[in-house]
Amino acid sequence: MTFEELGLSQKVLAAVQTSGYTTPTPIQAQAIPPALQGRDILGIAQTGTGKTAAFTLPMLSRLESGRARARMPRTLILEPTRELAAQVEASFAKYGKNHRLNVALLIGGVAFGEQETKIMRGADVLIATPGRLLDFFDRGKLLLTGIEILVIDEADRMLDMGFIPDIERVCKLVPFTRQTLFFSATMPPEITRLTEAFLHNPIRCEV
Ligand code: AMP
Repeated sequence: MTFEELGLSQKVLAAVQTSGYTTPTPIQAQAIPPALQGRDILGIAQTGTGKTAAFTLPMLSRLESGRARARMPRTLILEPTRELAAQVEASFAKYGKNHRLNVALLIGGVAFGEQETKIMRGADVLIATPGRLLDFFDRGKLLLTGIEILVIDEADRMLDMGFIPDIERVCKLVPFTRQTLFFSATMPPEITRLTEAFLHNPIRCEV
């Protein structure tokens, strides 16, 4: 299996090539084709399997078509920790270097000011921890009605950290018709319940 066979856009393939990747990892090979078709994904994969590219590459491809209307965030990526959110931002910058997308990193522990400026200028992509995201939402600074793709990453760590109520709230704030890409290393019952409530007929990818 090659990256060319997965159906990704030329811009994304060019970024993959400069990243030096020659072959998709198993989670990428399984998740990317259905994700490109707009299907929900339930990915059971650990860190180190290439799962960040498994959700970022199809997302970038899909963002190339569609809206050129009012600037509202089109994609939301939720991460359990600030460090993971910052890592995903770095990967997004690498894979999305040929896309002119505005990214806002919304994480706790730093002042609101700069993050708010990024939102106000029109962020296409939000990479956030749940607490800070809901903080902005509750202050009336964020519209989530334009979200087309929702990524929930490291769901079992979200559970360990007590974020499930926040995740449930976010899932109800974004449009029912969005695509959801959901990743967890393990599937405890609370996570299974969450996927049953919020994923629509997902493709299960397990590595
Ligand atoms: P992740 O599981 O997303 O944290 O990725 C783990 C590491 O694998 C990162 O350093 C990526 O740059 C790298 N990586 C992701 N996809 C590939 C690939 N198809 N070929 C080689 N390395 C990759």
